[in-house]
Amino acid sequence: MDADTTMRFVFQLRQQGVTDKRVLEAMERVDRQDFLRGIFADRAYEDMPLPIPCGQTISQPSIVGLMTQALDVQARHKVLEVGTGSGYQAAILAHLSRRVYSVDRYRRLVADAQAVFDRLGLVNITTQTTDGSHGLPDQAPFDRIIVTAAAEDPPGPLLAQLREGGIMVLPVGQSDHVQHLIKVTKTTDGLDYTELRPVRFVPLVEGLGGE
Ligand code: SAH
Repeated sequence: MDADTTMRFVFQLRQQGVTDKRVLEAMERVDRQDFLRGIFADRAYEDMPLPIPCGQTISQPSIVGLMTQALDVQARHKVLEVGTGSGYQAAILAHLSRRVYSVDRYRRLVADAQAVFDRLGLVNITTQTTDGSHGLPDQAPFDRIIVTAAAEDPPGPLLAQLREGGIMVLPVGQSDHVQHLIKVTKTTDGLDYTELRPVRFVPLVEGLGGE
């Protein structure tokens, strides 16, 4: 991103409510164009979701920013992302935390994203092709969990794998209906839910993808 593009990109994010300085800095350092192919790469800096392989989408930058901000990621944190997709969100998280585990149900998306992480030297991201609705029991607990596909309810295994004091951000609702971005905080007394805003994500689907 050249200086002009970066300025416009950050301005757009601020206008949509992304104001956290660390999140904005991380988003300045990760070039969204690196995560897009073909004709869509030209539209990398527009604030809209764009198609990626396997019929999936790279999320809208302002939504990535708002979710990252709500997640309140700290440098010592271990983060789980369900829904690697292009790898864009994981790359931003990698700049803010100690380690990111990112999983997707499509082998092809995981392989493509891993290749970009390798090229960018993002060595603190571990990827895996798996159904993320079961989480990653071997790596649990996580300080933060972000789900970038919509489930009807927060998956139980993910709630179980969240550390006490931890935060999970995810879209909930039926696909193609209104979904809401929610923030779940695990306290000593149980779970606190906050509704953030309406959103629209691809659905969280069980099992592995075909590609
Ligand atoms: N975070 C991505 C956007 C991902 S789109 C980015 O920054 O580009 C949502 C992704 O969730 C898709 O790639 C889809 O394959 C994946 N997904 C859907 N259901 C899943 C599941 N059960 N386990 C893992 N990944 C899943």
